[in-house]
Amino acid sequence: EPQTYDYDLQQELYHHLSVYIPRVFCLGPSGGSSREEQREELACQLLLLAPLEWLLVGEEPATGLALLQEKNHPSLLCGHVFKVGQPTYSCRECAADSTCVLCMQCFLGSVHKDHRYRMTTSGGGGFCDCGDPEAWKTGPYCQKHTPADSSRDHKEDPVAHLPPDMVARAYSIFFIILKYAVDMLTWEQEDQLPPGLEPLERRDTYYCMLFNDEVHTYEQVIYTLQKAVSCSQKEAVSFATTVDRDVSTTDSTTLSTSYSTANSMHRNTSRQSKPLRVQVMHSSVVAHQCFALKALSWLGQIIQYSDGLRRILCQVGLQKGPEGENSSLVDRLMLNDSKMWKGARNIYHQLLMNSLLMDLKYKKFFAIKFAKKYERLQCDYVKDDHDRELSITDLSIQMFTVPSLARMLMVEENLMTTIIRTFVDHLRHRDPQGRFQFDRYTAQQAFKFGRVQSLIGDLKYILISPPSEWSDPLRLKFVEGFDAFLDLLKCMQGMDPVVRQVGQHIEMEPEWEAAFTLQMKLTHIISMTQEWCSTDEHVLIEAYKKCLSALSQCHGGLSDGEQSISLSLAGHSVDTFRYQVSQEKVSIHLPVCRLLAGLHVLLSRTEVASQFPEQLPLGELCPHLLIELPLRCLVLCAQVHAGMWRRNGFSLINQIYYYHNVKCRMEMFDKDIIMLQVGASMMDPNHFLMIVLSRFELFHIFSSVDIRKRYREANKDLVQQNTLIEEMLHLIIMVVGERYVPGVGQVEPFDEVRREIIHQLAIRPMAHSELVKALPENGNKETGLEQVIDSVALFKKPGVTGRGLYELRPDWYKHFNLYFHHYTRADQSKAEEAQRKLRRQVGEDTALPPPVPPPLCPLFASLVNLLQCDMLLAVEGAVLQWAVEPSGGGWTESMLQRALHLVGMALLEEQQQLENSSTDDDIIFNYTSKITRPGEAPSTSGSVLALLESLQNAPHLEVHKDMITWILKMVGNIKTIRERTSSTSSISINQGQHVEETMRDKDKAERKRKAEMARLRREKIMAQMSEMQKHFINENKELFQQSIEELEASTSAADSELTCSSQVCVGPWRMSRAECRQLVTCILCQEEQEVRSHGKAMVLAAFIQRSTVLSKNRSRGLPDSENHNSLFMHPDLSMGIHTASCGHIMHATCWQRYFEAVQLKEQRRQQRLRGHTSYDVQKGEFLCPLCECLSNTVIPLLPRTSPPDRSVDHPSLETWIKTTRQQIEALQSIYMKRLSAADDDVTDDVTPSLRNRFSSSITEMINTFSMSAYKVGLKVNPNEQDPRVPVLSWSTCAYTIQSIEHLLMDEKKPLFGSLPCRQDDCLSSLTRFSAVCWTSAPLMTIHAHFVSLLSGTHQCTTNSHLESLLVLPEVSSGWWQLWSCVKAGILPFLRTAALFFHYLNSSAPPADLLVAGPSQWDALCSYLSLPSNLLLLYQSHHTLMEPLIHRWCCHPGVRQVLQGGGAIVRFPRESNKLITLPEDYSVLINQTSSFTCPRSGADKSRAPTLCLVCGSMLCSQSYCCQTEVDGEDVGACTAHTFTCGAGVGLFLRVRESQVLFVAGKTKGCFYPPPYLDDYGETDQGLKRGNPLHLCLERYRKIEHMWKQHGIAEVIGHAQEANQTLVAIDWQHL
Ligand SMILES: [Zn+2]
Ligand SMILES: [Zn+2]
Ligand SMILES: [Zn+2]
Ligand SMILES: [Zn+2]
Ligand SMILES: [Zn+2]
Ligand SMILES: [Zn+2]
Ligand SMILES: [Zn+2]
Repeated sequence: EPQTYDYDLQQELYHHLSVYIPRVFCLGPSGGSSREEQREELACQLLLLAPLEWLLVGEEPATGLALLQEKNHPSLLCGHVFKVGQPTYSCRECAADSTCVLCMQCFLGSVHKDHRYRMTTSGGGGFCDCGDPEAWKTGPYCQKHTPADSSRDHKEDPVAHLPPDMVARAYSIFFIILKYAVDMLTWEQEDQLPPGLEPLERRDTYYCMLFNDEVHTYEQVIYTLQKAVSCSQKEAVSFATTVDRDVSTTDSTTLSTSYSTANSMHRNTSRQSKPLRVQVMHSSVVAHQCFALKALSWLGQIIQYSDGLRRILCQVGLQKGPEGENSSLVDRLMLNDSKMWKGARNIYHQLLMNSLLMDLKYKKFFAIKFAKKYERLQCDYVKDDHDRELSITDLSIQMFTVPSLARMLMVEENLMTTIIRTFVDHLRHRDPQGRFQFDRYTAQQAFKFGRVQSLIGDLKYILISPPSEWSDPLRLKFVEGFDAFLDLLKCMQGMDPVVRQVGQHIEMEPEWEAAFTLQMKLTHIISMTQEWCSTDEHVLIEAYKKCLSALSQCHGGLSDGEQSISLSLAGHSVDTFRYQVSQEKVSIHLPVCRLLAGLHVLLSRTEVASQFPEQLPLGELCPHLLIELPLRCLVLCAQVHAGMWRRNGFSLINQIYYYHNVKCRMEMFDKDIIMLQVGASMMDPNHFLMIVLSRFELFHIFSSVDIRKRYREANKDLVQQNTLIEEMLHLIIMVVGERYVPGVGQVEPFDEVRREIIHQLAIRPMAHSELVKALPENGNKETGLEQVIDSVALFKKPGVTGRGLYELRPDWYKHFNLYFHHYTRADQSKAEEAQRKLRRQVGEDTALPPPVPPPLCPLFASLVNLLQCDMLLAVEGAVLQWAVEPSGGGWTESMLQRALHLVGMALLEEQQQLENSSTDDDIIFNYTSKITRPGEAPSTSGSVLALLESLQNAPHLEVHKDMITWILKMVGNIKTIRERTSSTSSISINQGQHVEETMRDKDKAERKRKAEMARLRREKIMAQMSEMQKHFINENKELFQQSIEELEASTSAADSELTCSSQVCVGPWRMSRAECRQLVTCILCQEEQEVRSHGKAMVLAAFIQRSTVLSKNRSRGLPDSENHNSLFMHPDLSMGIHTASCGHIMHATCWQRYFEAVQLKEQRRQQRLRGHTSYDVQKGEFLCPLCECLSNTVIPLLPRTSPPDRSVDHPSLETWIKTTRQQIEALQSIYMKRLSAADDDVTDDVTPSLRNRFSSSITEMINTFSMSAYKVGLKVNPNEQDPRVPVLSWSTCAYTIQSIEHLLMDEKKPLFGSLPCRQDDCLSSLTRFSAVCWTSAPLMTIHAHFVSLLSGTHQCTTNSHLESLLVLPEVSSGWWQLWSCVKAGILPFLRTAALFFHYLNSSAPPADLLVAGPSQWDALCSYLSLPSNLLLLYQSHHTLMEPLIHRWCCHPGVRQVLQGGGAIVRFPRESNKLITLPEDYSVLINQTSSFTCPRSGADKSRAPTLCLVCGSMLCSQSYCCQTEVDGEDVGACTAHTFTCGAGVGLFLRVRESQVLFVAGKTKGCFYPPPYLDDYGETDQGLKRGNPLHLCLERYRKIEHMWKQHGIAEVIGHAQEANQTLVAIDWQHL
């Protein structure tokens, strides 16, 4: 009964609102700063919402609401409303349909987490179905939502739990507020407010509102805004992002208001199909609309506290208004839905979901209301310019997928019929026969067509699960709906007819996509209606009758005006009419026929046909008419194959493609075959075949063999005709042999799936996703694959790359059918090849005989007679007769192969019948005796059997020999079985078997011998090949240098073992490898060259990049390139310079010429087209001419250093320190003097002896590399005068060695001998270079650097970096721990030092360092000529050490750090790792779903992207988070790489499940993510929804790539391999 409400209260409340709302909401809809927004939020809560709460609960809201919640008996529905990007889970075993989903929390607490489940990310909207028993076959409740006592009555009224006075207050308040909100949201006046809300004082502020839509792109809006309000692009972008943001507030934006703006906006956007909507509104109207949205959200929150309150709100919402029908508040909202803006719709849809859809009683009322208005709402939606998610019609999924509601709506509101009729109403364009005609569609109609397709979705929802119980009204309404559906199909029957084009090519490709879209969308509906019919006999019979009468309506006029003819052949004759596919109209769209075929199979499957034959109109069926249209369609395909329809263009090719495609074939091609089976099973097989021959336009050929001969000479289109004969034979094979549909053959549905899988895997091993793609999905997106896959296939796990594969189990090979009806011709030949190869490998013959088919169902039993009918025998005889002579184009191998296959099928059939029957009377099949009869006229040849025998040894039929042998053996077998059953003698059988067996043995022996010969031949060839390989290696030494050097390394390692005690790499005792000439070959000119100080310069292609891989402090900004002093690298290694090389050597001159050519090419390319290459010539980048590795400089190759002169005495450490100190002091004083003298002439300081140390070309290359290190390292322009030039060269050498040392340590590889050759080469040239690069710098500069470097040990100056040499062990536990701490801390340094001196002095490493293991310390110390123990060091040098130690301890910097000043870097520095990723990908999705864009407030980020290096989450690919880097706007990812990775970044795009690599601004590529599903596959784009788990090996591989600085190289290779990657604007990500 309608509740009364308090009118006074309304006036009071309205007055309050009219006073406060314009004051509170004065920022306008686009808001202000976040502080202002917070203030507004607070004011709204305190001044507007809190009073309402007080009023409602009658006490302090916090207490009152908590109390309400405590007393509440919550409904068992979870009802969590999904936000965009949140993960949803559906159980593939238990969900009623694929729309039933769980939220993450419920899922983790449910039984389904151990089932096969599917995971997706929500597009927003929809809610968790946990607790809905209808949604789940088992386990409807998670732990949290399990009912405590199941006895509770769900029907009881929750309102009864509330105090009566509160109930009354709630009615009033809810009514007033809801009505207020509805009034405001549907308010159409721009300048006025509803009565009672007029503001007290009227200000003259107006807003110009810009309404977002789906038609205009972001760029269009920005451009228009810029023009209309003449703002900068930046401002326009910021306005536009506000337009785009619409979830929380509204989607309109404030501009300085004026009508002209609005007009200008309108004008500017109207060039597109529809102008952007712009409106000028008074500020108070806008303010009230803002609050209306807040009020709706508030209502949604309040009802969460109590189910009673929720029900009251439901009642208020649905209560009839004064205007009667359709006047409730909810009605008003729904009817105005398409007029409202995006933000408003979002909020009230949310409220509907929280209220009406969460209350089981009112959900039903609401569903009825929704169904009543269905047609009207759909019309509104079709005209709307927003996406479906934003339309009220989208709520259909919440109601129609609940089976009980859907049935109720079908029965009470006739929903099925309503949906179909509404759909048909929207597709108005018809041809004169009343069929849909899409080719005359205007753009707008096409748009509409796109929109009405969502109706098919609704139809799918209500049909998705067939009823378990039928009531009479349901039967009635379903049959009515089915009738409406037939009307729809009738409009499609015969759509888009085609006529063969002769002479001219067609002028315009006819429209075909719309018709196929419709067919594709309806495919599942058609299957579902059949499924419904199969569950009830009465419904099935009714539907069958209706379908039959619909078909006869379609057939009306089929045979009219056609000339009837009579065909006769081989003693049979049949009446038909003249019709030629190649000359008349033919259509691919035959949905009514096909539906009837489907229902006919159901009659057989459900045994209705045998149980109620009297109720069926089977007598009315005219088989000739039934097969006519499907046959035409199949003949059309055959003729297209034969190339007869070439002039009809691609549109026809596409149609034929989709006709067979897995998405459509279920209700197209498959059903046509079934219809032929239906017809053939009801006809004389000879008649059937004659009609087939006639429709294939081949009748005349088989009516006389001689005619064929004559024809052959005259006809030019022999190739076409041969193809047609092949296709026709294939069709007969399919009609008799395809029995895997339950109802046609005696099989179960899983047999069908299994057979599909067998035939896919017969082509090649396949990944899970490939198999899924090859199988048809049902309406629930299931293929049935999982139930059978393990029985037929073996799973092979993937390695670090690639994916898991399924392989067919060998015991299923025998089920392989070469003429499997779903094979394309390409599939067929691949499968044939693969299967023959397999058989050859196991030493079997290569015949691929037909597999034993399952028995037919009774209704189709007579189909087998096709195999032994006179017509087919005549056809077989003719083909075999032709094959007696070599082809010459008159016949084809495929034709013969198919004929043999048919013979084989017939023999199998006879054998089956013989084996399965107990008495002779059952056996109707007698093929073996028929083929012994000689051919009838007109064929004058011998019998089929005689022909086969004569063909067996024909030399031109070698390939078919095995098959013919198999056939003849079968004939023998059958003879034996017949003899056994007829005669009493068993001896003859044994003999026969014996004979056969010896035959088989002989055969085997012969095969074995052949195999053995083949093996010997293979071996000989292999030997020849390896000889050739050796020769090739010798010829191309450079290419194989790696392997040769590996060989050398192993021999040198063996050498070193003998003398390992004396291996020293540094100091006077160091050992150098014996002097030998170093010969290298230039990869460009292939000339050999010795590396000598005064020879031609040789260089190594190299790539220098900045790196933060070793950084211990990512928060430190990038160094200031002008003032950065890099002589001492900061111990946190926050940025280093890394050098790598591919190891390819060139003459410096050859390289220079090559690089100039690259530059020239690039200039020419840039003139022609814009865009980037994978390398940037401006930055000196090029690709290595041999391996295409990204490079940006070259390292000069330098000769080895000479061994120390042992004839002179080397000073002791003490003397050395003393003398160097004196030298440094002297240098320093000179340096100071020079500085004060301001001598400009410093550059001339290089001593002549140094100048001549290297040839000019080598000196030039030293300069080149120094400049590259300087340029890249500091990001500055080249400047040879900068004193920091040599420092950067040293720095890159040091950093590269450190990074390699880390890598070796992390991978537990030995320090020496485990690096690949390219790194070996790179390091040796880099160390030698760093030792001499100072020669090209001014001596003064070098002296200055030496002074400051050595001052650390000599206290000449204090250095700020000194304190970083601090080791801070926990000394409390004594000497031993101190020692091990020191050891551990300096070990990395000693290792890098050993690497450095090893490469510098080419001294062989000790054996202990060539293996990974613990005993490295001593070997390392001795290699470095150090005592292996601190005590030893101290003992022998304590006079020297003591002052040093003392000085270090007293250093003020040390004290400062000890007192806690400054960050401490602990040694040994641990290696950086990529961040830890969760094992379960959905955890990541869930974490990401709460991530909001850091710039635009509470908005969801569209492309949240995770930095794998530091774990930052970024809002990628979006205008809101663009940042300026070096004067250019870049996306969040690119900006982040500059701070986090010095220009290189690794990210995980969470929504796409894709790894992203970026380098610089223009380079990037995608990389497979380290997450795999159970089938060993990644899911890039998250399309499949299989659960994904972290694959650690793959993640480690990515990490390894990063650690060895290979990201830029990977990107380079990816971009070279795939040019489209180059065109992507990576900087916008
Ligand atoms: Zn849930
Ligand atoms: Zn739950
Ligand atoms: Zn389950
Ligand atoms: Zn060269
Ligand atoms: Zn290379
Ligand atoms: Zn990062
Ligand atoms: Zn953002």
